[in-house]
Amino acid sequence: MENKISIANLPTKIEKLKKISRELNVNIYIKRDDQTGTEISGNKVRKLEYSIKEAIDNGCDTLITCGGIQSNHARSTVAAGIKVGLSSVLVLRTNEEPEVDGNYLIDQLLGADIKFITSDEYSNKREEIMENIKSELLQNGRKGYIIPEGASNGIGSLGYIEFAKEVLDYEKEVGIEFDTIVVAVGSGGTYAGIHMGNNLYLDGKKRILGFNVCDTAEFFEEKVKNIILESKNYLNKENSKKINLESIEIIDGYVGEGYALSNESELDFIWNLAKNEGVILDPVYTGKAMYGLYNELKKNKFKETKNILFVHTGGLFGLFPKKNQFNFKKK
Ligand SMILES: *Cc1c(COP(=O)(O)O)cnc(C)c1O
Repeated sequence: MENKISIANLPTKIEKLKKISRELNVNIYIKRDDQTGTEISGNKVRKLEYSIKEAIDNGCDTLITCGGIQSNHARSTVAAGIKVGLSSVLVLRTNEEPEVDGNYLIDQLLGADIKFITSDEYSNKREEIMENIKSELLQNGRKGYIIPEGASNGIGSLGYIEFAKEVLDYEKEVGIEFDTIVVAVGSGGTYAGIHMGNNLYLDGKKRILGFNVCDTAEFFEEKVKNIILESKNYLNKENSKKINLESIEIIDGYVGEGYALSNESELDFIWNLAKNEGVILDPVYTGKAMYGLYNELKKNKFKETKNILFVHTGGLFGLFPKKNQFNFKKK
């Protein structure tokens, strides 16, 4: 029996970005993990399929997780939970009274139980806060299951191993071979899963490039390794042996103003891509990662690269709270 629940729309489509490919003289394809669902859209649901299975197997009735006020992961967790009969408690980071918009609007619609904490509390004691919530639930006869930020732990990241199988199937079907996979890195689990999938199903042949949208490349190289080591505990011996900790490549320099903050060049880039390709990127992750890829290619950084697969990890609800930052009056 499979060790996951199945709620995501899989496999996700792959399509070519024609104009930007022509401009940069390289083939850029995009894997539409933004279309894994509607309420559950984005990359987090692949991880949640595994985390939630473990929650159910352990007899838990409530998911407890955390994130920023516009967390895609938190929103996906609530929606996924409802679909399998679990309630959710969200611990969301905000220093002010939040606007009811984007993901936070969806959280409200889905009836999530929401607790706000400050960014200081989030950095220093979010785990402790979630543990306390779990204890309180227990006193009321309920059983909580804590999912860490982004579901980026050993179990969650298993969700991105299967991604590599989908890539392989597509390559065989269409007769193309991707040399590079590009993904945004926010808590590291997606990168970790794709790296494992590369080792298990793609002969480790692909270059996996991550663009970090917060912290630093070194921070994530370390974090990704730790997640992979944790994931190995869930794999059989043979598969575990096939996974290495080599060639983890995270590119720094595109965090911009900071996590979830946008500057004008990034938003213009998102706007242009929308006009040219009919594809909408999000401002917090994919917008920055694609902007990073574009700039690195412009600088002629990846000379050997021919066929790139960019992972659209979702996040579209995050655009709405940014609506007033787009300068639509300018041409
Ligand atoms: C969380 C998220 C990411 C980053 O994935 P991690 O596994 O946290 O590194 C990328 N894109 C979107 C839209 C996300 O919500």
